[in-house]
Amino acid sequence: MEGLKPNTLIRLSKSCIGEAEKNAVMGVLDNGYLGMGSAVQKFENNLKVFFGREVVCVANGTAALQLALQASGVGPGDEVLVQSLTYVASFQAISATGALPVACDVDSSFVTLDWRKAEGRITERTKAIMPVHYGGAVGELDEIYSLAEKYSLRVIEDAAHAFGTKYNNKIVGSFGDIACFSFDGIKNITSGEGGCVVTSDKEVLQKIQDSRLLGVERDTEKRYSSTRSWEFQVNEQGWRYHMSDIMAAIGLEQLKRFPEFSLKRKSLASHYDNLLKGSGLIEPLIRDYSSVVPHIYVVRIKNGKSRNLLQQQLLQIGIQTGIHYKPNHTLNYYRTESPYNLKVTDQIYPELLSLPMHPDLNFKDIELICRNLLSLLRN
Ligand SMILES: *Cc1c(COP(=O)(O)O)cnc(C)c1O
Repeated sequence: MEGLKPNTLIRLSKSCIGEAEKNAVMGVLDNGYLGMGSAVQKFENNLKVFFGREVVCVANGTAALQLALQASGVGPGDEVLVQSLTYVASFQAISATGALPVACDVDSSFVTLDWRKAEGRITERTKAIMPVHYGGAVGELDEIYSLAEKYSLRVIEDAAHAFGTKYNNKIVGSFGDIACFSFDGIKNITSGEGGCVVTSDKEVLQKIQDSRLLGVERDTEKRYSSTRSWEFQVNEQGWRYHMSDIMAAIGLEQLKRFPEFSLKRKSLASHYDNLLKGSGLIEPLIRDYSSVVPHIYVVRIKNGKSRNLLQQQLLQIGIQTGIHYKPNHTLNYYRTESPYNLKVTDQIYPELLSLPMHPDLNFKDIELICRNLLSLLRN
């Protein structure tokens, strides 16, 4: 058997960092102010141009979701609808507010929240709905907004996978209620760790500006004018969830490079699609890469082959794969007494396999991956 070849390992995902990011970080280090200051303010301003709406940067995507929920008035005793098939971050953000994440099913084509079934889960306690843009796909977002309107629910979009993705020709985050993004190391752009909230709701923006800085009222404005609050007021529970200038310096450079990253991710995914479609052995998820900027590239194994074995065999030839995600309703912390009936989730989950996707890959890598994958599936 061929051994692991760490030097030639094709990684599932990775950060794409160049000289520009390194120099930008050095600039902040030299300047001697590492906390939340002018670089964060500039990153927020540039993101505001990108989205065409107000932006608040925070420490990570999970914090963005938690603070967005808190600012929308979600708290203990409330329920939030969310698909079970998402990163545990979505669930943790909801339970961190004291609210209950209600695990919902996904539809089988987009693997996004099935709003038809979700409607049946709405109770008097339901306050919000959190659609997750799985693999960059937005699914039937218009219908989710209609449902939310019908029941007066807030919509907090978990757009961690969807930076740059378009829906109805508009960039995700440029419309709707509240959208939350992640800039962790492997997302479409990174600031090391980091995240942001995008909305037009002035009250939500103000609340998050305070709550990310331990609830210290108007501390954001003071920091942006290089002063600090010694005499201040705190009106509610806050958290230390702000972004640092070190992170923002990386984010600013990544945002400049986003057009290049976006083109690369889209063309790699389209190449995968072309090579894998119609094999009968696996099915790529349905995505329109003229509008979706894929954070992950997911296929469904259709010929019954063991996913575990396939992953091991691929790793032996130097191809790293992943599973997005273990459904949250199967985790101890989120299991309920009356078992959920999440038919599509339970059926799809064992078939899901994520193939390498990051801007440092090229077409030859994709061809090598597909050749090996299809041949292993045939045997
Ligand atoms: C990455 C991610 C998050 C959270 O982002 P962090 O920056 O890692 O906290 C939330 N939801 C989904 C679906 C994600 O993939």
